[in-house]
Amino acid sequence: MGTLRLGIFGGTFDPPHVGHLMVAQEVVEHLGLDRLFLMVAHAPPLRETPPSTPPALRLEMARAAVAGHPFLEAGDLEIRRGGVSYTVDTLRQLAALYPGAELTFVMGADQALAFPRWREPGEVASRARLVVVPRQGLDPRTLPPVVVPGPLVPEGAGEGGRRVEFLTVPVTRVDVSASLVRERVRLGRSIRYLVPPGVEALIYRHDLYRESPPSRGEGRWRFPSGVSGES
Ligand code: ATP
Repeated sequence: MGTLRLGIFGGTFDPPHVGHLMVAQEVVEHLGLDRLFLMVAHAPPLRETPPSTPPALRLEMARAAVAGHPFLEAGDLEIRRGGVSYTVDTLRQLAALYPGAELTFVMGADQALAFPRWREPGEVASRARLVVVPRQGLDPRTLPPVVVPGPLVPEGAGEGGRRVEFLTVPVTRVDVSASLVRERVRLGRSIRYLVPPGVEALIYRHDLYRESPPSRGEGRWRFPSGVSGES
């Protein structure tokens, strides 16, 4: 058997949406990965406000999002580990769980910009191939060079630093964000086709993303037919 090719697509997934799934699907296809984890963060390190949805429920939504897919899987390592979810810890854990596997970490171009602020970015770059996909009009090919602490390259180049190599994978652009989905739910607007049906059902069943749920029949909110508001 050849080398196991594992992909990791890290995120908050609050909720997972078609933008995530399109990236996951196309990266798997483009790079011939054996499996790609939607790795659900327990506590994302760089977010200003913590996710409104508990980790276990975000994991359940990620599972629903990939149900039946042959190559996509929801990853629970970060949730089981608890605490702040640093990618470097996840990569170390995966290397121990799957010795010899080739690891590919996938991120949107917005994340690539923040990469130098990650914990141990040089170590992350050494442990995984880094793949960047276009996001919010950001073209990964035009990103400024990302430099992380590391051995001087070339030798004696003055300030210490190593340029991080990102592989760009073209994916069909889908400008959906989890914020958009949450906002639409808050406004009582449809999220059909923005999230898979299983995710949509969980959102309604658990009353997610509504700041102060109005009592039944009030306001603009209506449960879609066939989905119960009781959990
Ligand atoms: P929010 O709107 O709450 O910030 P999000 O939609 O960015 O959420 P995350 O779970 O934070 O979702 O994102 C996880 C990863 O998926 C990040 O690397 C992000 O750049 C990427 N991503 C999310 N949506 C898209 C999209 N529509 N196209 C490409 N990449 C995406």
